[in-house]
Amino acid sequence: MAADAFVPPHLLWPERAMTDMTGAQLSTYRMGGLVDELYAPNNLDDVRTFCQRLRTTQRPLTTIGWGGNIIIAKQGIRGATLWTRKLDWVEQGSPTTFTLGAGCHLAKVSKLAADNGLTGGEFFIGIPGTIGGAVRMNAGALGQQTSDVVREVTLFDRDTQQIHTWPVEKLAYRYRHSAINPARHVVLQVVVQFKRASNSGQVKQAMADSVHFRKTHHPIEPNGGSVFRNPTPTEERPEPWPVGKMLDSLGAKTWVEGNVRISPRHANFIINTGGGTSTEVLTLMTRMKTAVWDAFGLTVVPENILIGDVTAEEAKLWRNLTTPPKTMGIESVG
Ligand SMILES: Cc1cc2nc3c(=O)[nH]c(=O)nc-3n(C[C@H](O)[C@H](O)[C@H](O)COP(=O)(O)OP(=O)(O)OC[C@H]3O[C@@H](n4cnc5c(N)ncnc54)[C@H](O)[C@@H]3O)c2cc1C
Repeated sequence: MAADAFVPPHLLWPERAMTDMTGAQLSTYRMGGLVDELYAPNNLDDVRTFCQRLRTTQRPLTTIGWGGNIIIAKQGIRGATLWTRKLDWVEQGSPTTFTLGAGCHLAKVSKLAADNGLTGGEFFIGIPGTIGGAVRMNAGALGQQTSDVVREVTLFDRDTQQIHTWPVEKLAYRYRHSAINPARHVVLQVVVQFKRASNSGQVKQAMADSVHFRKTHHPIEPNGGSVFRNPTPTEERPEPWPVGKMLDSLGAKTWVEGNVRISPRHANFIINTGGGTSTEVLTLMTRMKTAVWDAFGLTVVPENILIGDVTAEEAKLWRNLTTPPKTMGIESVG
């Protein structure tokens, strides 16, 4: 408390604050305004110090990993932002388990498993993100998801002001959903477990195939991955029905909004063609959502997450994007 008396009211941790970074440097969309105070802790001690300082303030907290799934507002981010990119330690606990710092890149995790003759991490190879972000999003691909390999998660809880270790059951995993609330929880480290591979050549081949597929099917321009979640098959509609295919059938690959557009390669990806803004992304998402509703009677749910200091117009667009229409329809999973 005494040390905090020296902290100027506008900065949480003056000697460690980066005050000149923008969303464009922190997200794969390469967009977003000024981030007021950004902290990139090097280790758990730094995180503890950061969290202790947070205790004494009512500042909003934003946590950012690789920025692979976020739309950062054009007005930037107020309050304290924690950037986990340097929390990238790896400790092997047993032949099949590893403790990973939250900032470990997913490609590194995938290679770590393969190099140890293990299977289960192949799907991580092409996902631009950190293990902390993947734990929160339950990121997945190739029929696998993060919840398949997570055993426990250590996090800071802003409400209890304690560091807790949660077993995987407590994460309440569903498709692209977990119980992690980024305004409250900071994932610090994660224990993952893989299985011994009977054929490690096959594991490496699956990884190479995944990288090749992404290079040839995903856009090369700045983007935030799939904009909307894919609906889960139901009894009524048992076939997979990817949002990209629906939008493609509606001619969406030509849709443009200012400096963003739908990727000509994949209709569920929005690309930033240079100088794109959060308002433009949200406006285009609204057009996509409305078109899917009108043509298929299906309410799609955003996978991308809007963060930062949003304008009144953006708040309204986001509310409409995340609220199902009153009319009955098949809902994409939430
Ligand atoms: C080209 C491309 C392809 C993609 N392909 C896939 C795919 O196949 N499958 C898939 O699931 N996703 C995919 N994504 C989306 C994205 O890569 C994943 O969602 C990834 O898990 C996000 O991790 P991140 O570190 O980038 O999280 P960020 O985008 O930085 O953050 C995402 C959310 O997690 C929170 N968060 C991040 N780190 C922490 C932490 N340590 N503690 C608490 N909260 C945290 C943030 O506050 C935010 O709410 C793709 C993205 C791109 C750009």
